[in-house]
Amino acid sequence: MHSLVILGSTGSIGENVLKIVDAHPDRLRVVGLAAHSRAARLAEQAARYRPLVVALADESAKEEFHAARGTFSGKLLTGPSALPEIAGIPEADTVVVAVVGSAGYHPTLAAIEAGKRICLANKETLVVAGAIVMDAARRKGVEILPIDSEHSAIWQCLKCGRPSEVDRILLTGSGGPFRTRPLDTFPAITKAEALAHPNWQMGAKITIDSATMMNKAFEIIEAVWLFNIAADKIEVVLHPQSIIHSAVRFADGSVLAQMGNPDMKLPIQHALLYPERLPAPQQLFKLADCADLSFEKPDESRYPALPLARRVIELGHTYPAVLNAADEAAVELFLAGRISFPDILKLVAGAVKWHKPLANPDLDDLDQVGTWAADWVRAAAKKTNALDIMP
Ligand code: NAD
Ligand code: MG
Repeated sequence: MHSLVILGSTGSIGENVLKIVDAHPDRLRVVGLAAHSRAARLAEQAARYRPLVVALADESAKEEFHAARGTFSGKLLTGPSALPEIAGIPEADTVVVAVVGSAGYHPTLAAIEAGKRICLANKETLVVAGAIVMDAARRKGVEILPIDSEHSAIWQCLKCGRPSEVDRILLTGSGGPFRTRPLDTFPAITKAEALAHPNWQMGAKITIDSATMMNKAFEIIEAVWLFNIAADKIEVVLHPQSIIHSAVRFADGSVLAQMGNPDMKLPIQHALLYPERLPAPQQLFKLADCADLSFEKPDESRYPALPLARRVIELGHTYPAVLNAADEAAVELFLAGRISFPDILKLVAGAVKWHKPLANPDLDDLDQVGTWAADWVRAAAKKTNALDIMP
């Protein structure tokens, strides 16, 4: 029996984690639930799963939680320290990190320091703080099990050979909603169009990141840290149907791929129940139903996030943290209707260009450059001529 704390339980991944808990009540129980501000939904979850502790990062949502808490008698934590605190409660053995964005790395580190097994959906944790997180996990002997579907696939495929026999990782991506849209119409892309992902139902931020392919850029960095592999051994391949979730080519040329319907319940269950495989609460995948599986090389002029990520990996230091924070701020501005779709990447590239790096950053340095990058993006977006000076 695993005892779970779920960080981000009201989100798309969090709700799917709870469906896996429902399917395996003899294997999984909930001891902690945490969210940002959706207090009414958190209260409903608390009433149903009866965790010992719940946490709301947004203190101002406290009253709403109390009004809706019903018979839930557990403890409520609030404020900025609530997530790191719930991530370390002694009753849990596993922490599922399903918050979005830079809210992930502090609680993940707190969970590692407390010796918890980590099931990681929040890729931003490794983009920002990959070196610190992986070092801490090694030091504490803690496992980090990927939930991201591509990394779950790669993890499963890697079991078929030795690390020295891996020739390359084939990281697949659908290409998002704008794979074939004429480039000259990109400035007219609306929020609704960018939020309409062809294959996956996800939270707003990762859906926009999938449209720009910043999500795939982050996933390159995520794979570098999770699998201790050089970025030049990771090839991005477009696969519009999202059936092959990624593949590994071994030294003898054999390519092993993991397949399934585009449904996050499968990789979530794989991480939660690992190393067991049990029936999953989703439609079974049938190969004969796939009339068409296609693959193509990504066009980097359509997806500037990909070469930018490779440059950022090469530059190292605090650059990946800047990439993450600048993107988070730019996506927020796009979702608020303040900038156009192509401006997202222009602003992120601008922040990377003007960043003055700090070598071997600690957590405070990472927080500080994150704040700098988000401020830089918000300030640059206000200047009418700022986008002309971008690389
Ligand atoms: P979402 O927006 O649906 O949910 C985010 C959750 O995080 C919510 O519960 C919200 O309350 C919480 N949260 C947000 N900001 C917070 C803060 N500052 N402090 C505390 N909690 C906060 O997002 P999602 O789509 O479920 O994605 C979650 C993470 O999983 C992201 O890092 C994403 O990249 C990753 N991921 C998602 C999918 C997917 O299919 N949705 C697939 C792979 C990876
Ligand atoms: Mg993914």
